[in-house]
Amino acid sequence: MRRPSVLVVDDDAFSRTVVARKIAKFADVVEAADGLDALSYLQTADFDLAIVDLEMPNFDGLDLIRSVRGHPTLKHIPLIVLTGNETRAAIDRALAAGATSFLLKPLDWSAFGEHIRHVLQLAHRAGHMAVHDNLTGLPNRALLNERLNEALTRIGHDELLAIHVLDLDHFKSVNDTLGHPVGDKLLQAVSRRLRALMRDTDTIARMGGDEFAIVQAPLRHPGEAEALARSAIDTVREPYEIDGQNISIGVSIGVAIAGHDTAGPEHLMRSADLALYRAKAAGRNVFRMFEPEMDAQMRARRSLENDLRRAVVAEELELYYQPVVNLERNEISGFEALVRWHHPTRGLVPPDAFIPLAEETGLIVPIGEWTIRRACETAAQWPGDLAVAVNVSTAQVRQPGLVQVVAAALAGSRLHPSRLELEITETARLVDDDTTLAVLRQLRALGVCIAADDFGTGYSSLSYLRNFPIDRIKIDCSFVRDINDSPAALNIVRALAALANGLGIPTTAEGVENEAQLESIRRQGCTEMQGFLMSEPLPAHEVGRLLAAKAGPPKAGSANAA
Ligand code: C2E
Ligand code: CA
Ligand code: CA
Repeated sequence: MRRPSVLVVDDDAFSRTVVARKIAKFADVVEAADGLDALSYLQTADFDLAIVDLEMPNFDGLDLIRSVRGHPTLKHIPLIVLTGNETRAAIDRALAAGATSFLLKPLDWSAFGEHIRHVLQLAHRAGHMAVHDNLTGLPNRALLNERLNEALTRIGHDELLAIHVLDLDHFKSVNDTLGHPVGDKLLQAVSRRLRALMRDTDTIARMGGDEFAIVQAPLRHPGEAEALARSAIDTVREPYEIDGQNISIGVSIGVAIAGHDTAGPEHLMRSADLALYRAKAAGRNVFRMFEPEMDAQMRARRSLENDLRRAVVAEELELYYQPVVNLERNEISGFEALVRWHHPTRGLVPPDAFIPLAEETGLIVPIGEWTIRRACETAAQWPGDLAVAVNVSTAQVRQPGLVQVVAAALAGSRLHPSRLELEITETARLVDDDTTLAVLRQLRALGVCIAADDFGTGYSSLSYLRNFPIDRIKIDCSFVRDINDSPAALNIVRALAALANGLGIPTTAEGVENEAQLESIRRQGCTEMQGFLMSEPLPAHEVGRLLAAKAGPPKAGSANAA
């Protein structure tokens, strides 16, 4: 604790000097002869305590107490009242107005010093606790904001400062698997390491949970901020030993730099948060410096999200249907429903431009519900037993309610369940997880088919077919595109088709654009084809016309070849 500073307020010069001299042994003392002087002293310098005589002419002790307690920044200063011959009622008034404690004159000097020191200590501890985090002892969010404000006002013309926001990677899983006590110790260890990187003029704070922030000031060059972020990542990722266990953790960091002319602290924090968001998206153990275009991209994203929120209600979505052709019978066996968004100002927005956003924001749930219902209603109007395939995001499978949505759509449209096919990517991952595996089983129990979409890309292995029967494999268009130029692509299609045929699972080759590709996939044993060679996706009303034209075997130049 640094040497405290104390203000002694008394109109009686003699008793004031005696008190001041006693305190001067352990504190810096300033004397004031009346309440108004005292108030202006308190406003111009930081005092840890004021000792106030209650009886003074004009602006007396009680007036001073009331003014201090009503003042936004002074109100926490402890005030000790000295009283001589006042009544109990006067003391009560002083305490009610906010006096911290009182001492009776004549003062007992041995107890006096002890009392003052005690009050100073309590105030110090309370002040420290109010602005520090209990677990790590680091400054808290409030103190960080204060330091940031200070740093921004102090910053010189050719100087910069940086704000770093840090977020531990997958801290929650440490807590979940090793328990909170270990999580707490890890946070303490991380804090110690980060604190060791700080210069005297920097501040590191715990903002809550597994989030930290650093005010790095002053700087000469942004490179210094990059260097600190890099050191922070390197030091945090070094393994820890806690309660005999080896633990590793990573950290993602967003950094925003300010010069003396930059916008205020909130703006700066928000910029650092945006950069952190980017860092998180880029994977673990990375930092990102804020760049102005992040702001623009974020705003564009937010406006797209708002528009998308309204799109379902405003009926701006439409389903297009792309025929799937059975290669043995040479006839259309069904259609894949592909969503389109007629945006009021942007025009036609392709699904790749909004489905990922819908998945992130949870909007995929209402959109998916609409898609399933609409596809079932439309297919119920088609002749025969033509199937309709609907794309279902893994995000939808992970949300509760998908089974009910599908059941309701089937019941509402009276479409036979066997005519509905749900196309899901990353089926292998879903089958690995007990909760989502149960959802797939329930869907199949309804009688609908499950197709593994974009097969061959990403994380797709065939071993799971033993645990969960897939009804169809859709071979990703990238292999079909390269089938005649790349032996690797040809081999993959051959292997997939052979395996699927062995298991009796039909295979659809996607993205067939020309006759040569059709020939190859036919030779490899794919059972269905889909692609521009047969037709582009069509609006619902053109499906009828296509069927009426009795599209036979797709030949070069037939239909809407692209
Ligand atoms: P996908 O499921 O792989 O759909 C096939 C995509 O390939 C469609 O793009 C289709 O128009 C396109 N395509 C079809 N034939 C050819 C061809 O011969 N050549 C080429 N180059 N492309 C062809 P689209 O409609 O833009 O859909 C893109 C993706 O968006 C879909 O990929 C699917 O993952 C997703 N998607 C579309 N509709 C929905 C939906 O209703 N719900 C969900 N969750 N996702 C959807
Ligand atoms: Ca699909
Ligand atoms: Ca696909």
